[in-house]
Amino acid sequence: MANQDSTNPSHDLFEQFVQAQTCKEVQRIFSELCHHLQVDPRDYQSFYTKLKERLNYWKAKSLWVKLDKRAQHQDYQQGEVCAKNKCLVLGAGPCGLRTAIELALLGAHVVVLEKRDSFSRNNVLHLWPYTISDLRGLAAKKFYGKFCTGVLDHISIRQLQLILLKVCLLLGVEVQTGVEFKGFVEPSGATGWMAKLFPDNHPAGKFQFDVFISAGGGSFVPYGFKRKELRGKLAIGITCNFLNRHTAAETQVAEISGVARIYNQKFFQDLLTETGIDLENIVYYKDDTHYFVMTAKKKSLLKMGVIKQDFSDADKLLAQVNVDQEALLRYAYDAAQFSTGHCLPDMQFAQNHAGQPDVAMFDFTCMHRAENASLVRERKGKKLLMGLVGDCLVEPFWPLGTGIARGFLAAFDTAWMVRSWGKGRPHMEVLAERESIYQLLSQTTPENTSKKYSAFSIDPATRYQHVNLNSVKAFQVKNINIIYSFYFYSQCRHKATLMPDSHYWADQKYSVGAFEVLLKWCQQHTAGYDRVNVKDLNQSWRSGLALCALINTFRPRVIDMSSLEESNAVYNNQLAFNFLERELGILPIMSAREMSFKGQIDKLSMVHYLTQIHDHQGQRTL
Ligand code: FAD
Repeated sequence: MANQDSTNPSHDLFEQFVQAQTCKEVQRIFSELCHHLQVDPRDYQSFYTKLKERLNYWKAKSLWVKLDKRAQHQDYQQGEVCAKNKCLVLGAGPCGLRTAIELALLGAHVVVLEKRDSFSRNNVLHLWPYTISDLRGLAAKKFYGKFCTGVLDHISIRQLQLILLKVCLLLGVEVQTGVEFKGFVEPSGATGWMAKLFPDNHPAGKFQFDVFISAGGGSFVPYGFKRKELRGKLAIGITCNFLNRHTAAETQVAEISGVARIYNQKFFQDLLTETGIDLENIVYYKDDTHYFVMTAKKKSLLKMGVIKQDFSDADKLLAQVNVDQEALLRYAYDAAQFSTGHCLPDMQFAQNHAGQPDVAMFDFTCMHRAENASLVRERKGKKLLMGLVGDCLVEPFWPLGTGIARGFLAAFDTAWMVRSWGKGRPHMEVLAERESIYQLLSQTTPENTSKKYSAFSIDPATRYQHVNLNSVKAFQVKNINIIYSFYFYSQCRHKATLMPDSHYWADQKYSVGAFEVLLKWCQQHTAGYDRVNVKDLNQSWRSGLALCALINTFRPRVIDMSSLEESNAVYNNQLAFNFLERELGILPIMSAREMSFKGQIDKLSMVHYLTQIHDHQGQRTL
């Protein structure tokens, strides 16, 4: 056997593929393996079968057994159910890759786009028991021998990405790295939906698709998806990674799966007395690195000189210029030392993607959640199903370790939606079902999801204990889709390009330059206010005065305009947002801070927001 192994180059390449530890290495070796076996991954429907046939190697057998078992599940209908679908997945984070695997098993042609060209995140993720079982089913242990050994229930983000990338490639998913999604190219007569990419001559720009899944993480959400900001009290997280040399001494140091102040007052008091460090909680996982994540109190960060100056605005508080990097390194180092009883020998920071010590401080005071998980767009008679997964759908609260667990649940639910799409079910029904399932996501815990992990599939009934696939009705999702269609309709001047199923626009309210109509309406109702000059549908709104003026026009005396200062934009915007949400149920499209400080205000989001105010006024509810 040993002889056979060493003389067959494809066996050797397979071994290298299994062991590869960087994204580039995986892709390079995979391409060599395909070349050597003369199998073409572009032949996605028969690729896996051909690869198996040609790589007749005993060491690959256990892998095929696992993948075959998954692929033979009845939900996939032998890869025929989505054989005609073309899916573009944005983002090769854990959730994008996990979704891509399911779509490939359904038989779809899947392309994943990833703007980074390396997997460099050392941070370690806590896994729920079902995710461990799921990953074992995808042969995670074959690719990463240390995967969840013994009681360990975590994995670094990069290791998880590597495992999922390898499975994706074996199943015929095309993973394109170093390419950024910049938007859509709408269908013309001859072509379907395509993506605008950077670099703009990238071959994936020619891919025509009917399904688009965004898994771009917390900061990427495609137009049309409204987000809700969930704001808690100020919470400052610090993560740091130290080299793990896997020595005997390091092995003996116990992990801290999570210690919170309320449960161990003494620990935190001693930490404060000995080091001056004041924490709410701390976690330590031993993985590829020694990984620590903690929530630090602002007062102690100021006292220890980590944060230079106090600001009430979290962006300003944690801005790079306001953080002393050396002091932050010391703070993280001392907290790690103390919490492991000074037993970790020779602690040296691991490096991050930029070659710097891997320490980060971030604000998780406010997190976002998309209001809906799916949409359908239609142009020139060509429909595009859109879905969100992972942090893009719901940003997790890190101490709960829900990111991967809920991210994978959403990946399965999304695959279930694409399956219904592939089956040709009416699209409003497909969306209504997806939104019904989405309502369950934020309530899921390891306790209330089914314990029969081996029976988990993309069918929601196998995972959620009480699932009602009809809790959202088709007519309800129609409203969401109509708002979205407005964006596209209003961008085009000719009625011929109107979405055919959007009879709501029959009154032609927006038939001639919808943006101009909206702008004129805003100008008319904000005219005459001091310091308010609405010239457009984005930048003119930054100070918040125009929004307050608009409210004041329809509800005089609600806001004392003379008391507002132009320079107090966050306050003004928050005042207007609060009123509109409380009184009219119109949810903010961005935070008051984003509206006030960050670069360009997104025009389409603002159009969406102002349209709702306009509509309320039209119905005399304002
Ligand atoms: P990401 O991992 O963010 O991946 C998104 C990908 O999309 C990125 O690779 C990005 O480069 C790419 N992308 C974005 N825009 C574009 C574009 N325009 N074109 C092309 N590519 C693009 N979760 C847990 O489950 N357990 C934990 O213990 C845990 N701890 C955490 C601790 C901290 C400190 C933090 C910050 C998070 C933690 N999480 C945890 C959350 C977890 O990291 C995320 O939930 C998980 O990484 C989300 O995966 P994702 O695929 O949705 O997004």
